[in-house]
Amino acid sequence: MTIDTVWYPTDQCFINGAWVAPLGGETLAVENPSTGLEIARIARGQGADIDAAVAAAEGARDGDWGRMPAFQRGRILARMGQIVLERADDLARIEAQDVGKPLAQARVDALALARYMEFYAGAADKVMGETIPYLDGYTVYTLREPHGVTGHIVPWNYPMQIIGRSVGAALAMGNACVLKPAEEACLTALAFAAIAAEAGLPAGALNVVPGLGEEAGAALASHPGVQHMSFTGSVATGALIQAAAAHNIVPVTLELGGKSPQIVFDDADLDAALPFLVNAGIQNAGQTCSAASRILVQRRVYDRVCEMMATRYRGLVVAPALDDRDVGPLISARQKDIVEGFLKAADPARILARAQLADDLPEGGHYVAPALYGGVDPDDPLAQAEIFGPVQAIIPFEDEEDAVRIANGTQYGLVAAVWTRDGARQMRLVKRLRAGQVFVNNYGAGGGVELPFGGVGKSGHGREKGFEALYGFSVLKTVAARHG
Ligand code: NAD
Repeated sequence: MTIDTVWYPTDQCFINGAWVAPLGGETLAVENPSTGLEIARIARGQGADIDAAVAAAEGARDGDWGRMPAFQRGRILARMGQIVLERADDLARIEAQDVGKPLAQARVDALALARYMEFYAGAADKVMGETIPYLDGYTVYTLREPHGVTGHIVPWNYPMQIIGRSVGAALAMGNACVLKPAEEACLTALAFAAIAAEAGLPAGALNVVPGLGEEAGAALASHPGVQHMSFTGSVATGALIQAAAAHNIVPVTLELGGKSPQIVFDDADLDAALPFLVNAGIQNAGQTCSAASRILVQRRVYDRVCEMMATRYRGLVVAPALDDRDVGPLISARQKDIVEGFLKAADPARILARAQLADDLPEGGHYVAPALYGGVDPDDPLAQAEIFGPVQAIIPFEDEEDAVRIANGTQYGLVAAVWTRDGARQMRLVKRLRAGQVFVNNYGAGGGVELPFGGVGKSGHGREKGFEALYGFSVLKTVAARHG
């Protein structure tokens, strides 16, 4: 079985503007999580392929790409965004079969990728330095310059969105990129390379080397030719990336997931909150760094919110990605084992509702019915661990103080939401919540590519998305000219 909408070679690396076989000659199987069947082969890139990709990026950095005026870089990015838009349906079908996410959710990712390219296309020639008042006889100003070669290691849960926010911003600043997509899902990363070539991106400005994390990923993270690393994934791997970067003394951006809370006060508009409370837990089968896996609810409305969420859960249907129902399979048998391990260890008396599995699910698919737990203790693993599956824990709280303590009581701090009609309370909570993004009476704000994103604590550091990312993907040079 193959994916009909793929129009580029899947089993090769994209290096220096050309499709090339991995030097080791080996490939890896790509599994469709909905069926467990192989749908493609990808290159098993290794250290030598990463060396070639970094050399190509260095050539682009020192050549046409490095010298290209910012507005022309923007034009190429705009063309890439246009092609992504035109191919959004094809890209969505590829992603749905590669990641297992329902088709409509995969289409949202394709449109987000287009938006990232549009946003960074427009921003490319608007990153400016400053002039600084200084001593008499001096003129001082700053320049924002690209790092040079940037490395990008992305996970399997949102390949298109994460490539857009990371590679899109890096290219806009004039960096030359080496991208190592996740071995579980890298078909749209390769599509992105094909689109870049079609849009006229100079050879070497974007290089894609698929492969295993401990091989291609580790080689990229430790490569002395890389001047900045961007990583999204697990805390354990993030620590390895940061250690490798420390060895080479290069900056890193780490986005490592979370245990994000939505806090519902007793004056909240519960009907407005309900879809956000549930969707933020089950989107992409809960395999989302910013999933709202904790729902904190004030006592007076606790029973009501439990009942509302449980009713919604019972109506959710889990089905193959191309059936486009509420929830698809998990990415892999391994991820399913991890999630089922948490479910087995949880107190069965706390379960409030499970979603339904569709009839006749393919046997090899990695399906888990979303599970909603109530009355969860803030110290319970369900309320502390990033499960990365469709599992939500409802935790009751008494008052504002209690809510802040519980919300801030994990090692993570990615995003948080507060639901209340009390404006003063909204502002107090915004200030006290430890998180990189805080939402008031919504969750996720539609994902806006314009909105800087990143965490505190074990959720990581550095910011991607929005204009802020352009600062991260650049270095500031101060020029002091003495002229008397
Ligand atoms: P991971 O962090 O190991 O993988 C993410 C990326 O890192 C992949 O591209 C992988 O190939 C690469 N990688 C793995 N080992 C590497 C190494 N030694 N050096 C360099 N790169 C390496 O994540 P995983 O094993 O796929 O998933 C495990 C857990 O991580 C999940 O259960 C979830 O909790 C978390 N996770 C978080 C996110 C997120 O968006 N923050 C995404 C994926 C996974």
